[in-house]
Amino acid sequence: MGDHLESRACGTLLGLACGDALGRPVEFRSPHQIERTHGRITEMLADGTYGKPAGTITDDTEMALCIARSLAEHATFDPADVADRFVAWKASGPFDIGIMTANALRRIQNGESWDEAGRREWELSPEGSNAGNGSLMRCAPYAIAYRDDPDELVRVSRRSSSITHADPRCQWSCALFNRTLANLQIGIERPLETALADLETELPDDVLDAVTPVVEYLNDERADVELANSGYVVTTLQAGLYLGLTADTAEEAIVDAVMMGGDADTIGAVTGAVAGARFGLDALPDGWLEALSVRSELESLGTDLLEIGPQSA
Ligand SMILES: [Mg+2]
Repeated sequence: MGDHLESRACGTLLGLACGDALGRPVEFRSPHQIERTHGRITEMLADGTYGKPAGTITDDTEMALCIARSLAEHATFDPADVADRFVAWKASGPFDIGIMTANALRRIQNGESWDEAGRREWELSPEGSNAGNGSLMRCAPYAIAYRDDPDELVRVSRRSSSITHADPRCQWSCALFNRTLANLQIGIERPLETALADLETELPDDVLDAVTPVVEYLNDERADVELANSGYVVTTLQAGLYLGLTADTAEEAIVDAVMMGGDADTIGAVTGAVAGARFGLDALPDGWLEALSVRSELESLGTDLLEIGPQSA
């Protein structure tokens, strides 16, 4: 794969899938339990949480696939179509699905429009369970299609989040994350800092407070960043950006993410998208890619998404 952009686009999607599948067997485990049972996880493991074969992807990749397929088919962001694909996926009986996602999609199944369903579900959810990482984990395909239109990328990322995760922290985490991924793909230096400079005044405080130390660390390694392995969108965004942007290799970034345990598959997926965008597809271990049943589809979608969006209009 000689083309850098193509390698970074495909790396984004495959990195996401690698992190998801590597983390799946140890989701909900503590770092100590993982260390004791497996040592450092450098190969796809079978069994574990959900008892699946090695390389099995979860909702993170499956929902990203819904988005990528919709973008590829319609050559634009069609939120109702994305929502329909989420609903069809939920109806297929996935072994892993987040609570807010399941509730919002049930509303859509029952006839509510996609933009009402997510907002109503959010309004009913108490603080502490209203801002999970379920939209962040799936949003990377937009960063490929809309890499050259920063404003549209922000708008699309926020609206897609709100299908299931309408909280401003979720919407803006997706926007900042995707702007960073787009900057990595098109080769902008200081990809996070540049994205942050544009969005800073609009970001919710919790998002700003989480990513500011990551930028400080990237500029001066003496700064301190303490990561958490919960499903809260803000800590997952922080961990994914920190690990993805500071590791020396894609493998190191993704393994470090998975070794955090807790929401290991999603922290792995978010970190993996960053690492894949930064280092490219060729940097992902062959053994991981070979274990993924969706490898070839993700590779062709990564290439297809480069051809759509406003840049080709
Ligand atoms: Mg998952």
